[in-house]
Amino acid sequence: MPDRPPVVIAGAGPTGLMCALGLASQGIPVVVCEAEPSLTHDLRAGSYHPPTQDMMAKYGITQRMHLHGLKVRRWQIRERRGGLAADFDLGMLADVTAYPYRLHLEQHRLTPIQLDILRRQTDAKVYFGHRVTGFEQKGGTLKVKVESDGIPGTFEASWLIGADGGRSTVRKLLPIEFEGFTWPEQFLVVSTPYDFGSQGYALNVYVADPIEWVALFKMPNNGPPGVWRVVFPCDPGMPDDALLDPEHVEAKLQSFHGQGKRYEVQHKVIYRVHQRVASEWRVGRVLLAGDAAHLNNPLGAFGLNSGIHDAVNLADKLGRVWRGEGGEELLDRYVRQRRAACVEQVQAMSIRNKRLLEERDPLVQRARMEELVATSADVEQARAFLLESSMISGLRKSEAIE
Ligand SMILES: Cc1cc2nc3c(=O)[nH]c(=O)nc-3n(C[C@H](O)[C@H](O)[C@H](O)COP(=O)(O)OP(=O)(O)OC[C@H]3O[C@@H](n4cnc5c(N)ncnc54)[C@H](O)[C@@H]3O)c2cc1C
Repeated sequence: MPDRPPVVIAGAGPTGLMCALGLASQGIPVVVCEAEPSLTHDLRAGSYHPPTQDMMAKYGITQRMHLHGLKVRRWQIRERRGGLAADFDLGMLADVTAYPYRLHLEQHRLTPIQLDILRRQTDAKVYFGHRVTGFEQKGGTLKVKVESDGIPGTFEASWLIGADGGRSTVRKLLPIEFEGFTWPEQFLVVSTPYDFGSQGYALNVYVADPIEWVALFKMPNNGPPGVWRVVFPCDPGMPDDALLDPEHVEAKLQSFHGQGKRYEVQHKVIYRVHQRVASEWRVGRVLLAGDAAHLNNPLGAFGLNSGIHDAVNLADKLGRVWRGEGGEELLDRYVRQRRAACVEQVQAMSIRNKRLLEERDPLVQRARMEELVATSADVEQARAFLLESSMISGLRKSEAIE
């Protein structure tokens, strides 16, 4: 391997760690700088589509995720008031994936697995408490500026990957736009051990309603019985503390499903939801991946999954450039492929999913639900629908882009 400075990666989230693992496993030196003192533990994503599991299996990650993860083979789209339910069985995709189901596992249990596997690579170094604050590109290298305990420092780098999340410092320092929009309403996510499965709900359900849609994800938590994560849209006019008020949360849950007694709420959070894609993902020796490059609403579970897809694609192409098997135009191909997947698939599907669930006209909503029920009942149509909603068709299309 040529002797040159490492690839520096800003951010030890799922995307940054996956980039690091993809590169280090090819013998390419990497340095990961994470601003926080340890891996972040907040409750976020947790639903992994079949191709994401296929990609991570190469590194032994998927196998370890199965120790705690929940296999979700069946998922549903239902009406909140009305009896229609479209049931989809991912088992239909067993001929195209080794993992014909969604795997549910909290994001904060994925990153420790990634980090543990990364630490076994001699070519990888991870520095916690190191915030990337700037960079200078000069000729064939970069100086990456960091700050640790208020003390400034620098790393010399061959390339810098900004995988530093939605508020990415790296992206903000580039002369590019974060194009798109922010939804007016926040999303409320509540975790409760109440067993919605006993009411006929699949482990992942999207519930359409002209007034208030709901999404349900069963998560493994610390083991059986697990918890149900329930997502609601919030009234944009209400202040944050009122949205999180226990009585407001309880009213939302009871109005969705009155269970005759008070819900036990283990966790609740509100967050703002964006649909944005960076106008450029590569400026010289600086590349973007994951949330730093794109953000979408969680309806369809595409955010974290597409960050992993970016990382795997980028590591493969940067590896080839590093070994001299191709020129830097390979990196522009990374951008063309992954940006197209984001704009044409992830943005389009996540916006479409939200619009479907929140359709205000009951007649239009009923017609769409009837169409979905018909799709789920027809083998060919259901398969095409599952290939798309599991991100398989989108990956195939984008990987064909030259
Ligand atoms: C409440 C919530 C629910 C979600 N639910 C889903 C879901 O159901 N399905 C789904 O697919 N996605 C979901 N997402 C999105 C998903 O969590 C993100 O897509 C995913 O975290 C992206 O990973 P990432 O590594 O790109 O960014 P992040 O996970 O944000 O990681 C970025 C890392 O960079 C670090 N960092 C930031 N700035 C710097 C800096 N200057 N220098 C060094 N390090 C820095 C951060 O501390 C962080 O560790 C959800 C997000 C939220 C907020």
